Amino acid sequence: MCSHDKAITVNRVVMIEVREGMSEVTRFVDIGLPGKMSLDQGDFSPLKHFVLAKKRISDIFEQLLSYVQETSEFVEDTCKNGALEQISSRDQLEEIQAYTSKLGIIKEVLARRHMKVAFFGRTSNGKSTVINAMLRDRVLPSGIGHTTNCFLSVEGTDGDKAYLKTEGSEEEQSIKTVNQLAHALHMDESLDAGCLVRVFWPKTKCALLRDDLVLVDSPGTDVTTQLDSWIDKFCLDADVFVLVANSESTLMNTEKHFFHKVNERLSKPNIFILNNRWDASANEPEYMEDVRKQHTDRCVNFLVEELKVVDHEQAPNRIFFVSAKEVLNSRMQRAQGMPESGGALAEGFQERLKEFQCFERRFEECISQSAVKTKFEQHTIRARQITANVKAVMDAININAAEKRVASMEDREYLVDRLDFVRNQLNLLIGEIKKRIKAITEEVEQKVSIAMADEICRLSVIVEEFHSDFHPSPHVLKMYKTELLSHIEEGMGKNLAFRCSDAVMASMQNSQKDMIDLLQPLLPPAVQSQIHMLVPSRKFDLSYDLNCATLCSDFQEDIQFHFSLGWTTLVTRYLGPTNAQRALMLVDKNLHTQVARPLATTPSTPALVQQQEAPLNQEELMLTMVNNLASVTSRTSMSVLVVGGVVWRAIGWRLIAMSMSLYGLLYLYEKLTWTTKAKERSLKRQFVDYATEKLQLIVSFTSANCSHQVQQ
Ligand code: GDP
Repeated sequence: MCSHDKAITVNRVVMIEVREGMSEVTRFVDIGLPGKMSLDQGDFSPLKHFVLAKKRISDIFEQLLSYVQETSEFVEDTCKNGALEQISSRDQLEEIQAYTSKLGIIKEVLARRHMKVAFFGRTSNGKSTVINAMLRDRVLPSGIGHTTNCFLSVEGTDGDKAYLKTEGSEEEQSIKTVNQLAHALHMDESLDAGCLVRVFWPKTKCALLRDDLVLVDSPGTDVTTQLDSWIDKFCLDADVFVLVANSESTLMNTEKHFFHKVNERLSKPNIFILNNRWDASANEPEYMEDVRKQHTDRCVNFLVEELKVVDHEQAPNRIFFVSAKEVLNSRMQRAQGMPESGGALAEGFQERLKEFQCFERRFEECISQSAVKTKFEQHTIRARQITANVKAVMDAININAAEKRVASMEDREYLVDRLDFVRNQLNLLIGEIKKRIKAITEEVEQKVSIAMADEICRLSVIVEEFHSDFHPSPHVLKMYKTELLSHIEEGMGKNLAFRCSDAVMASMQNSQKDMIDLLQPLLPPAVQSQIHMLVPSRKFDLSYDLNCATLCSDFQEDIQFHFSLGWTTLVTRYLGPTNAQRALMLVDKNLHTQVARPLATTPSTPALVQQQEAPLNQEELMLTMVNNLASVTSRTSMSVLVVGGVVWRAIGWRLIAMSMSLYGLLYLYEKLTWTTKAKERSLKRQFVDYATEKLQLIVSFTSANCSHQVQQ
């Protein structure tokens, strides 16, 4: 959303700037139209109009270029930004970029723009003199016929040294005096007819040249037949043409012919006709008016009827009767601080001077307005088109951005709703999943506890399967027990895994699958297919961790030989292992007490006795023994006594002897069969009893541990 807003804001800013640029251009074009600017403001040279216009239009283009460059960067950013790519297109970007380079070119062209006036007329009519008079200095050589068949242009240079450049060369040839220039032009054989020699004259020396004016002197319309190539080369960009005619003769066809040709190539060229050498008319004042009228009529006819470049009203403003030589002389005199009329001046000089000044004024007005129009109008039209097109592009982008914004807000609303829904569903789902986890953990706990109970029952089988070197020596025995424990650990672990793991795994996977199935509809479509990759699917190994070694660490075997009809054994058989132990200890203690009493027993003895007497005291033990004996006696004693009495009578002491020997034989037999193997068997049996008891204690712990693992 943020980038949208930014896009729209930037777009608006750029649009406002582009609009401002457009109105600037529009204002400029309006100023550029004739009549909109006052040109009669004292010292203000009409040529300044062009200079000012050039500066302003250059500024506007500069501004416009930076706006369009900014626009181009904006569109480029928008194109690159993945989230905004729909807003602008590559075509739009290319269009704007094309405008940027076009505006850059126009800017450069504008900087080179200047006003250009070209002087034509027959040789020696005074073209060079007219140019010099306008420049108020002898810049171009005159009076020696035309010096060369080249065109000579005069333009300003910022430096303080005059120099010339010939066509095709960038070399600056220094010229100090006009004679030097004339000489240079004469001597340079490389100059072809119709080529251009550019004379650069310091602007500081000549006010006219400060205002971007270029004056072009031609070789003389009578010296060439290559009019077409001249026109192509020098006239197409000229703003004003000055026909310098000789008032002492009539307009020649060669001169007229040239302007007809120019008129064919350019639409309504600005042509001024200077009837030069008018000072000569002072010699014959009586004919002056007639001659003037005759010349004027012919010139008007030429401009209005033949060329049709002006109408009857304007035509007199284009025809002047002057004496360039007089004007030049008087201006040079003045420049040297001498009186204007210092030389021998013919009658009517002041009128001719005024007319020359009038010509200069009209010429300046005409050339500046014409140049502004011809040099800048096309560019302003182009600028208008470009701003309009850029605006259209930015409008389109703005509309797209607005649409995208609306669409994004709708999306956002939908997503917020969806988020709420998903959140609620997830809460429900979490409850459901918790229930399932509880169910599966209970199931696992039950399974493991059943399996463990079974395995405990089968413990003797596992113990029987164990084979290792057995020897009653403590060291070997220790090793044997350690190995036995790890065998049981491994065996039971394997069996439990065999019984439970697959089932647990299967039910876990089922539960996981159910959970995924429930979760999937809540996920975005793009992720739905990836959920299996996101859920950890590593194989789960249930660890039973019986830890038999610790569990049975205090197991103490008894592999001493015990005769089955021995005292200890019989007591154990009749009293049960616990009571027997106590009884035997009691006997042992009595004996011990009798032996030890005179010696005054150690302080630890009473504590030991006290500890081992436990809840059953002596009377109770006796009672138990008597009970047991009584029960045995009650069952068998009567019959034994009866049978014994009968047998005794029958066989007497021989029976006793036989019994004794049988008892001895039995003892011998049992003693002989009490081998290492038998000891191992006995140990195993004892171990099974012991481990069974211990393992039963950890059934619930182990199953809870397994179920915890599953829960995790
Ligand atoms: P271009 O060949 O047309 O350039 O003519 P120039 O400027 O070289 O002038 C030819 C000759 O005419 C020179 O000797 C000038 O002094 C002379 N000339 C130029 N203008 C006038 C003028 O107004 N009156 C008189 N009497 N002579 C002039």
